[in-house]
Amino acid sequence: MKRETLCVQGGWKPKNGEPRVLPIVQSTTFKYDNSEEMAMLFDLKKEGYFYSRLQNPTNDVVAQKICALEGGVGAMLTSSGQAANFYAMLNICEAGAHIVASTDIYGGTFNLFNVTMRKMGIDCTFVNPDASEEELQKAFKSNTKAMFGETISNPGCRVLDIEKFARVAHHNGVPLIVDNTFATPINCRPFEWGADIVTHSTTKYMDGHATQVGGAIVDSGRFDWDAHSEKYPGLCEPDQSYHGLTYTKDFGKMGYMTKLVAQLMRDLGSIPAPQNSFLLNLGLETLHLRMPQHCKNAQAVAEFLHNDARVAWVRYSGLKDDAHYKLAQKYLPNGSCGVIAFGLKGGRDTAIRFMDSLKMINIVTHVADARSCVLHPASHTHRQLTDEQLREAGIAPDLMRLSVGIEAADDIIDDIKQALDRI
Ligand SMILES: *Cc1c(COP(=O)(O)O)cnc(C)c1O
Repeated sequence: MKRETLCVQGGWKPKNGEPRVLPIVQSTTFKYDNSEEMAMLFDLKKEGYFYSRLQNPTNDVVAQKICALEGGVGAMLTSSGQAANFYAMLNICEAGAHIVASTDIYGGTFNLFNVTMRKMGIDCTFVNPDASEEELQKAFKSNTKAMFGETISNPGCRVLDIEKFARVAHHNGVPLIVDNTFATPINCRPFEWGADIVTHSTTKYMDGHATQVGGAIVDSGRFDWDAHSEKYPGLCEPDQSYHGLTYTKDFGKMGYMTKLVAQLMRDLGSIPAPQNSFLLNLGLETLHLRMPQHCKNAQAVAEFLHNDARVAWVRYSGLKDDAHYKLAQKYLPNGSCGVIAFGLKGGRDTAIRFMDSLKMINIVTHVADARSCVLHPASHTHRQLTDEQLREAGIAPDLMRLSVGIEAADDIIDDIKQALDRI
């Protein structure tokens, strides 16, 4: 089925007499007639529900919809996008491992890789995503376990050359993990370009209404873990905590996903509430309608900003002279997303006066929902950093992240115009 149909019809398939709308199974536990049946579930010899920390029917159905949209073999929901990126890595990394990640990624993910995972003994080398393959190659070591990037970076709005990253990752025998939050599978399916695992903060466009925090991990099932078994003992060697079963041998293409659920969710437990998955599912039902409207509006706003003399610079890959216009034409032919990065002449202080003058566009710590909103990383999410440190993290001190919503483009532009007039 096409993506539009999957948004609406994917996942929940009611049987005779069951509710047409995805039910919220708000139950921690599930009943069985005899002890033996439950024991089989614990041994992973039978499929079924027993405790919502591992699996819950509402969560699973929404995961299946996202899996179908991305074209994967299996998917799992997490309680946040942060948990998704952490679990996607931890499933194949342990103390002593090393990963290679683009510098141009979400601040939360940057901290996860740069601070928290380092404390756990997992080292990270950050690379400029625009570097040549030869340059990227230099970041790899014998203990490298994965490569990571974002389809469209938050907040930099740069487009990742997914094929280039996939070639380098595969040359080094490691999977490419792509955070596809901003593009969504409506505008880009990283598996079609060689990515092996896709992650999402479903908090953003997938939900689209700013009602729940959530994440997802999708596996393409294509990476051959056994061909590099010395790197991935957790997948390719017996798991003593499951009576010695081996994920890749016992579950084939579902090995990575089974380990995520059976081991990481069991031990760490960052599951979404079924109620949140229900809200996420409502959002997904209109994702294919909202994304084109976000893109159309953002294109109009980006062109307006581009032509206004008070604007110092604009980054939006739909602009013909944007550094990533060509990459966007290749990977995002139907549009990128609604997020624009820009700066005003006058820098940091002018940015603050501009934002305080906006009326309809609200200042919020959020991005990618139906309502237009704006954030100044240097004053908000990254306020601890000096201008120098901001530049190192790839964020200009005057960068504003404007998330263009699905209102009428004229009203969004009018609000920007009147705020510009006040600076
Ligand atoms: C927001 C975001 C995250 C983190 O997701 P949360 O749901 O806020 O935990 C990760 N990656 C990207 C690209 C994001 O935009």
